[in-house]
Amino acid sequence: MDEVQREFLDIVTQVRAHLEYQRALGMSFVEMVSSESPRLTAVGALPVSPISTASENEKPTVPSSSGLVGVREELGDCSRCKLHRGRKNIVFGEGNPNAELVFVGEGPGQEEDIQGRPFVGAAGQLLTDIIVKGMKISREDVYICNIVKCRPPENRNPEPDEILACEPFLIKQIQAINPKIIIGLGNVAVKTLLKTKEGITSLRGNWKSYQGIPLMPTFHPAYLLRNPSDKRLVWDDIKKVIAELEKLRKD
Ligand code: URA
Repeated sequence: MDEVQREFLDIVTQVRAHLEYQRALGMSFVEMVSSESPRLTAVGALPVSPISTASENEKPTVPSSSGLVGVREELGDCSRCKLHRGRKNIVFGEGNPNAELVFVGEGPGQEEDIQGRPFVGAAGQLLTDIIVKGMKISREDVYICNIVKCRPPENRNPEPDEILACEPFLIKQIQAINPKIIIGLGNVAVKTLLKTKEGITSLRGNWKSYQGIPLMPTFHPAYLLRNPSDKRLVWDDIKKVIAELEKLRKD
């Protein structure tokens, strides 16, 4: 490799790292202003590919994510609880900063820890199928995050002190996004959000409220991988979410 090639590779690596950082902040788009025409480029899809082109006089509309960016900055290189010791990456959350729907899971698993992105392992694939195939929404249009942002060792449940340390950031994420509906995935997420000891089996399918936002508790996708016959129950819950979303959009 000659010097020019090395320099080029170095620039590509830096741009990629920057875009991945932006995506970790929850940004779905970056503004790309050239001398000819401004355009928006999806952060989620690397390598970079333009997805929308504005005309010469149009100002590009970048979804507001300053709230989420602020929350991510406040979280920083977090060491507020013991989970930071074993993590590879903080999994802050990702998706549309103005999402109508927010999915809240438990905490990152191995694949999420490696990639720094929520729900990208086997359970994540099932969640993506629920969103894309079931709800007919693109994954980039919703927001996905977890109760704790760092992987618990051996995928154990997060402990109360870890949840307590991370919870202010989840609260602020949800305040920044202000979604129409929250979907709580599984026991840990729903018990934490609702401050209840009641289990997911009796909670699921029944509307609750979190900070004044309608919350639908349902089974965690990882549970569904072990108990596929319960997928139909989750589909019942998701149908309620779709119907309520339609209603809220009309209000
Ligand atoms: N399980 C979760 O609860 N969250 C993830 O991000 C992945 C798996």
